[in-house]
Amino acid sequence: MSEFRADLHCHTSCSDGSLTPEELIKKAAEIGLKGLSITDHDTIEAYKSAFPAAKLYGIDLITGIEFSCTLRKTSIHILGYSFDLDSPGIKTLCEKHCNRRHERNRTILKLLTKHGMPLSDEDLYMSSGKKSGESIGRPHIALAMVKKGYVENINEAFKKYLREDRPCYSPGESYNVKETIDVIHSANGFAVIAHPHLLNDQNIVRDLLEMEFDGLECYYARFPSHEQERWVRKAKKKELLITGGSDFHGDFKPNNPLGCSWVNEEIFRKLKHNDQSNEL
Ligand code: AMP
Ligand code: ZN
Ligand code: FE
Ligand code: FE
Repeated sequence: MSEFRADLHCHTSCSDGSLTPEELIKKAAEIGLKGLSITDHDTIEAYKSAFPAAKLYGIDLITGIEFSCTLRKTSIHILGYSFDLDSPGIKTLCEKHCNRRHERNRTILKLLTKHGMPLSDEDLYMSSGKKSGESIGRPHIALAMVKKGYVENINEAFKKYLREDRPCYSPGESYNVKETIDVIHSANGFAVIAHPHLLNDQNIVRDLLEMEFDGLECYYARFPSHEQERWVRKAKKKELLITGGSDFHGDFKPNNPLGCSWVNEEIFRKLKHNDQSNEL
């Protein structure tokens, strides 16, 4: 593939992806991607090793993250790009989310016990391959449930128990959209609304589009092109950057292959240069 393609949404084993940062970057190079951003949930841990790996494999890498927050009890994901890695605001928010996850995972485990599916902390650490203090999410809990034989697969665990509208879900402490955007901006980054395609409530979409975002993730996973074009039209109307990516998680989400959504060089350069005074 000689055309420049950059996948701006993927996860590593630092959150709930199955590949390490190095494995992900190697895979990106193998499939012909030229640019990448790693957007782990609420952590920048991957960037401890990602830049040297990107140099080794000839991948143009920009910083990224996917922050969890809520608007009127609806879960919202916000992507941050090209922010300063050493920003105190980003570091502090990641630490707060790490504590939130720890507490909320305890709540979810209690709810699962109530429903006759006890899991110990050890079960969770075993299935996630993680230690206390690392980013453990619902996919790891789902995998532990599969390993215990409570459900057939990860999808069933979400469908029956872990989804937002299911009995064993807990969001934990919530962070609001505005404070998350402000943290990204204070670190000289771009704040982007992640996968608006997944939002059912159009009032939430309307309110998000009124906020201080810089971009909208119009190209997402394997959504059909007419769905994506609908978001492109909204982004143009609001003069937002049009971003895109696969939401690759490796084995945790086999239907999202790396590079199945991507952006061209022009968009990638706009994000990379990150001069907030520039016209987007
Ligand atoms: P968490 O950040 O712990 O709330 O987990 C959110 C992640 O769970 C998402 O980013 C997806 O990777 C995964 N997820 C959400 N819904 C499902 C589902 N129905 N099936 C499989 N994975 C899901
Ligand atoms: Zn995820
Ligand atoms: Fe997301
Ligand atoms: Fe994601």
